[in-house]
Amino acid sequence: MNVLQVDVEPWYCDLPMDRWGECTDRVVENVETILSLLSETDNEATFFVLEEVANNHPDLVRRIRDEGHEVGSHGYSHRHLSEMTPVELEFEIDRSVETLRGIGIDDVDGFRAPKFSLDRSTSWAIDVLEERGFRYDSSVFPVKTPLYGIPSAPRRPYRIGSEDPTVPLKDGLWEVPLSTYRVPGAGVNVPVAGGFYLRALPYRFIAHALRRRSAAGHPAVCYVHPWELDPSIPRIDEYAWFHYHRLGSALGKFRRLLGDFEFTTTERYLDSLDARDG
Ligand SMILES: [Zn+2]
Repeated sequence: MNVLQVDVEPWYCDLPMDRWGECTDRVVENVETILSLLSETDNEATFFVLEEVANNHPDLVRRIRDEGHEVGSHGYSHRHLSEMTPVELEFEIDRSVETLRGIGIDDVDGFRAPKFSLDRSTSWAIDVLEERGFRYDSSVFPVKTPLYGIPSAPRRPYRIGSEDPTVPLKDGLWEVPLSTYRVPGAGVNVPVAGGFYLRALPYRFIAHALRRRSAAGHPAVCYVHPWELDPSIPRIDEYAWFHYHRLGSALGKFRRLLGDFEFTTTERYLDSLDARDG
């Protein structure tokens, strides 16, 4: 069983929040494309929803839930965790969960930090998530990149703690890391799990890397942003090249991925682990 995740956010969410009102979002059309593909291929996914989307498009979020998918939280302002204090993260989480509850989504068990920003310097966030009663986090990318990553973190789901986020614990919050490919002989992890890497890498390599995860007895954990499937999103000077790199190639590869692999929600995957462990 593999896990598919969608970070439900408008294309402009990496601009400061006070500029969001100037932009026209395309998130409804983009998510509808994903829902149709999931339904055609009989797959399920976890949708981590940014508060802005739950607030502006409650019908869309209820439709995600009604079609059998899981709804989790992607926070409020889409700022990197290092730009927040623990109190600010508490506020962001409470606001996002309250908005989801307000539109009828009661069970919010999972969290995805903006920009995969849970790393060694922001591991205090794990305590906030535990206090707020989350069952799992899915924000650790076991890679070294200029923007994020904990290269020495486990590459499979584990129980995470704030003291050292790379040491698996016996119980507590689940961490579901994004999939990586371990380069044979080099001891280096390469990200393959979706998003930019889905756009940038050849499909054959991605499929090979995901099959290697399955062969090792671990799920492939893949993600996509709705705006990545939409080559016509506005080009703005504030965004770097990697926001737009090969946007036109993502939809075709995403469709192939859904045809070649079976995906479920993060929650159902964890249920299967808990059932196995008794
Ligand atoms: Zn995001």
